[in-house]
This record gives sequence, structure tokens and C-alpha cells, in this order.
Amino acid sequence: MQLHVLGSAAGGGVPQWNCGCPNCTAAREERLPRRTQASLAASADGTAWVLFNASTDIRSQIERVPALRPSAPRATPIAAVFLTDANIDHAAGVLDFRQSDRVDVYSTATVRDVMLANPMLAPFARAPKTWTAVGDAGVTVAGLRVAPVVVPGLLPAYAGGAAADGAAVGYRIEDAAGAVAVYAPVFSAVSEELAQACAGADIAFFDGSFWSDDELIAMGLANRTARAMGHAPLEGPDGSLEAIRRCGCKRAYLTHVNNSNPVLDPSSPQSHVMRAAGIMLAGDGDSFEIAGARAGARARG
Ligand SMILES: [Zn+2]
Ligand SMILES: [Zn+2]
Repeated sequence: MQLHVLGSAAGGGVPQWNCGCPNCTAAREERLPRRTQASLAASADGTAWVLFNASTDIRSQIERVPALRPSAPRATPIAAVFLTDANIDHAAGVLDFRQSDRVDVYSTATVRDVMLANPMLAPFARAPKTWTAVGDAGVTVAGLRVAPVVVPGLLPAYAGGAAADGAAVGYRIEDAAGAVAVYAPVFSAVSEELAQACAGADIAFFDGSFWSDDELIAMGLANRTARAMGHAPLEGPDGSLEAIRRCGCKRAYLTHVNNSNPVLDPSSPQSHVMRAAGIMLAGDGDSFEIAGARAGARARG
């Protein structure tokens, strides 16, 4: 399985257009890497690609990865888009796929219903476009078995902001050779289901939005806690970093990192704590090739 990290930041990216916080300033001054909003591309064969989340950065992200560019007029290697939730910074990029006759979008039924209530998105459920509610058993798309992973989450603010079943999910992605990746860029806690999906996974990407629950308030950036925004803070004995450290995946990365998060600065104590836990920071442009246990047997057979 091949993976490309298209974007690794939370909403707004790094730098965020209206933010002069230390990390945003450092990114503008090229002292820290710039980051676009979180998205992942996965492929079983390097030919057909599946996207996980589509932010308002998706158009430029596609252009940056040669494998995602069209090889002929009106031909795209992008076979489908899976959405983890209905937040604007994870899902509004679907609108950028309107030029294609055929777009296959997958999400929970909750996310589909919330998004399709918007008349601007309604055409994405009209044939030959499809918007499929993914059941617990998952679906196979372009040679990848994709199954939702239950996590607690909130509906977006525009849909009321309440906790709801299916408001957010992670995805477990497996190819025919048994390579497993987990993508979970938004959750308000590391659920038992997420920990189980990650156990033994070759690679997993986790919600790294905020270091502390009151980070935005303490920095004077906003008036809401991480938890009120549906994101588990990383720090502390009940924080997500400790749960991620214990989950048993072979490689653990944080993605969807907010520009306020001190882990973005590699010289910060928080970055040291993260690395000491064996957890890394995903970056825009990172790519991975993971081989499943059955890959060798298939190659020989
Ligand atoms: Zn987000
Ligand atoms: Zn900032």
C-alpha cells in the first residue's frame, strides 16, 4: 500500500491566514514547515487512489503529487473520497470535485445526511455521482478494504455541535497483501474500537489537534476548549498521547495538528515528550510504502 500525506494541519493550516501566533509566524518566516489541512491519499497499486478527507486545500494538494494528476483529458486516478466527519476543514473540498461526472463519496449516514442538507452539496448524491453510507462491515474500493472505526465525536458547529453516533469515524484501510493503515484525524477520545483497529497496524495517523484542553484560551486565540471542539487533548494521564502510545501500532503519527500546538516546534518540551513516547509528527509530502504479511507470498506465487 502506498500512502501520501497531502496535508497535516487542523483547520486553517500553518500559517493560518488570520493568525500571528508563534507557530504561524515561524512558518511564515520559514523557521517551521508550512502545513495544509489534513488529508491522506492511499493506493493498493499506485494507479488508483482513494482520498481520506478533502479540505479546501485539496486542489493544490492533488497538483503537488504526480500520482494524483490526470494522465489524459478528464481522467483522474482518484477513485473515491472517504470523509471522517462533516467538518468544513475535512469535507468542504468535496465541492472541488464538481467538475467530474462521477464522484464516489463515502461517509457515515450521519455525515451524509448533515452534508446533503446543504443544497450546494446535494448534486453529489445524484447519479452518476454517488454518496454511500459505509456500514460497519466496510467497503472495498480500488483494491482497498476500508472499514469505519467507531470514535466519539461531535457534529460540526453548523449542524448544532452535539455529540452524535457517526458524527466522526476513523478508517481502517487494508490491502490484499494484509498491509494495514488507520486514519483517525478527529476524535474526542481514543475509543476501544480505535485502539483495537490500531493494534498491529503497520501505520496509524491520529488526531493531534491540541496539546492541552485550554490551549486556545490560554493563548488568547479562541474561547473554546479542545474537548468542546470534539478533539481529545494530547497531554496528561487521560490524554490521547498516552492512549496512542499504548495502542500497539508499528508506527504512530500525529496529523491534523492545530497551529497553536507546541508539538509543531521540535525544540519544545512537548515535542520531546511526543518523541519520547515513540510518536512522530506527520508532515505535508510524507509518503509511505507499507507491505503486508502476505506481500512476499503473493510476489512468489
Ligand atoms: Zn479539522
Ligand atoms: Zn497561529
